[in-house]
Amino acid sequence: MNYKRFLVAIIILIIIIGGMYFIGDNNQNNVTSIPETTDNIENNNNSEIKKTDGSEFLMNTLVRLRIHDEQPQAILEETFNKLRYLENKLSKTITESDVSNINKNAGNKAVEVSDDTYKLLKEAYQFAEKTNGAFDPTIGPLVSLWGIGTEEQKVPSESEIQSALKKVNYKKLELKDNNKVFLQEKGMSIDLGAIAKGYAADFVLKYFNEKDVESAFINMGGNVSVHRDKIDNTLWSIGIQDPDQTRGNIIAAIDGEDMSVVTSGNYERYFTQDGVRYHHIINPETGYPARKGVISSTVISNNSSYADALSTSFYILGVEKSFEIAKSMEDINIVLVTKNDKVYVSEELKDRIRLTTDKLEIIYR
Ligand code: FAD
Ligand code: MG
Repeated sequence: MNYKRFLVAIIILIIIIGGMYFIGDNNQNNVTSIPETTDNIENNNNSEIKKTDGSEFLMNTLVRLRIHDEQPQAILEETFNKLRYLENKLSKTITESDVSNINKNAGNKAVEVSDDTYKLLKEAYQFAEKTNGAFDPTIGPLVSLWGIGTEEQKVPSESEIQSALKKVNYKKLELKDNNKVFLQEKGMSIDLGAIAKGYAADFVLKYFNEKDVESAFINMGGNVSVHRDKIDNTLWSIGIQDPDQTRGNIIAAIDGEDMSVVTSGNYERYFTQDGVRYHHIINPETGYPARKGVISSTVISNNSSYADALSTSFYILGVEKSFEIAKSMEDINIVLVTKNDKVYVSEELKDRIRLTTDKLEIIYR
């Protein structure tokens, strides 16, 4: 079989075996699949397993859920309750949230936050240390200054960037006893946009485990998580968006169960000025959108907040440093597409990844 035919065969195979359709939504940076499955299936206890789909706009993205269970509707509703609860704590645009409360009191006083906010901030702090500040939860002033994705987006002046940079430093985020949090300087602010969706997915997955949910799929704007395997006992197949093509075109599919697949890219939230693309992932070293040659960064792990924080970090850090970090950790596998049409893939994924394009040179590391 020649290569083109082989490729066509592979694509058809993905569609048939995975039985999946691709969906693209509003604010997302990868494309994901909700596989089609039989509606009602008898399980071993002869109780009926039903399927429910639902979607809601939360955390500024369309959250899509599919639940297979005896009581899928109740699970679905409780899942959305949990996500709303988290958004109300973690959003920097909701004025009464924990994050807003911390930001309002920057340079003034420590504020007490919920257990979840505190736990997530601890995790964020650890990723800031691990990535030497490439991931920084105090990135708020720079994100606001650039305003990417908002009506105020613009290329700031050099002096604006320099003064915002002075307000970004995770070492000035104090996580004290009794859930008390303090930002040391006025004008500092926390932005959890690069990790909170991952935390929310973990939160929901934990609930699915507690409830012994049969099978489930969550898509939170490019953050995809699956609970167990599919209802027909085959693996899920998750597509990775082609960064150069319209939504729905993928470069590869990853097979697995109990996993999260999280992508950060430069192709969903950006604007172009004088031929330069300015996107939403900011390098805290320079104050400008990151340019280390990576155009799409995907992390696969069974920990969704790790995958979220690291996908953003790897976009900023570039290929070499990213593999160094991924290899130093358990269960962190990566797929990095670079602007010179190469795709760097963790060798642990060899049996689970299927490339669906011939334009990329694949390099296992
Ligand atoms: P990721 O790659 O995961 O992260 C990129 C985002 O992380 C950036 O948009 C920025 O917010 C932040 N970031 C950039 N550089 C860094 C860095 N170096 N270190 C750490 N973080 C960085 N958007 C709205 O426009 N309005 C809203 O009301 C709103 N509410 C939200 C509420 C919650 C709880 C959450 C989690 C997000 C909300 N968002 C909102 C979206 C948010 O602002 C981000 O745009 C979004 O989370 C980006 O996710 P991503 O998967 O595209 O990118
Ligand atoms: Mg992220």
